[in-house]
Amino acid sequence: KKIIIAIDGYSGCGKSTTAKAVAKGLQYTYLDSGAMYRAVTLYFLRNNTDLANSEEIINNLKDIKITFHFNEAKGIQEIFMNGENIEAEIRGMTVSSHVSEVSTVADVRTAMVDIQQRMGNDKGIVMDGRDIGTVVFPEAELKIFMTADTTIRAERRQKELLERGERISLDIVKENLESRDAIDSGRAVSPLKKALDAIEIDTSYLEFKDQVSKIIELAKE
Ligand code: C5P
Repeated sequence: KKIIIAIDGYSGCGKSTTAKAVAKGLQYTYLDSGAMYRAVTLYFLRNNTDLANSEEIINNLKDIKITFHFNEAKGIQEIFMNGENIEAEIRGMTVSSHVSEVSTVADVRTAMVDIQQRMGNDKGIVMDGRDIGTVVFPEAELKIFMTADTTIRAERRQKELLERGERISLDIVKENLESRDAIDSGRAVSPLKKALDAIEIDTSYLEFKDQVSKIIELAKE
C-alpha cells in the first residue's frame, strides 16, 4: 500500500536530500514544498511586489504557474515557473534571504497548500517542508520531524552554496538558517512545529544512508 510521507523540520537539516533518497528507494514521487515558496519569492523579487499589499499579492499569485519536471539526465525533479527552469536561481542566497518573510503571508500559504494537496491526491508521495504533517497532510501515514545541530547544518549548507559558486562565510550562512527558523517557528499562520504524531530524527551524527533506510523501514511497517 502506498502512503504519504511528510518530512518537516528546521532549515538545512537535510530534509530534501533525505526525502529524495526515500522517494527513490520506495519508487514514490518526491515533492519539494520549499521550492514552491522559493519560486513565489523569486517572482515577487523580480516584480517588486509589496508584501503589505494583499491585492497586489493575490494578483501576482494568479500569474504564477509552478510545475515540476523530472530531469532524466540529472535524475532530479526540477521546478519551473511559467515555463522557466528556476531550479538553480531559487537556491541562492538572495531568495534564501527573503523566502521566510514571503512565507508568512497568509494568501501565499493558502495558494501553496492548495496546490500541494492536489499533488497528494495520488498516493506514494514524499513531501518535505515546514507544515506538511501539521497542515498540508495532517492524515499522512508517516510523519518525520528532522533536527540537527545548527553549526553542522550551516557547514553542510555552506558546502552546497560553494558547490554552486557562492562563497559565503559560515557566520552568514548560520545567521540565515537561524533567522529563517525563527520566522518559520514564530509566524501566525502554520508555524513550523513538530506534529504530535511525528517521529523525531536528529541527523547531526547519523550517516545519511542510515537515516534514509530508517525512514524506508518505517514506511514499510
Ligand atoms: O525547504 P526550504 O529550506 O527550501 O524552504 C525555504 C523556506 O520556505 C523556509 O525557510 C520557509 O520559510 C518556507 N517554507 C514554508 N513552508 C513549507 C516549506 C517551506 O514556509 N512547507
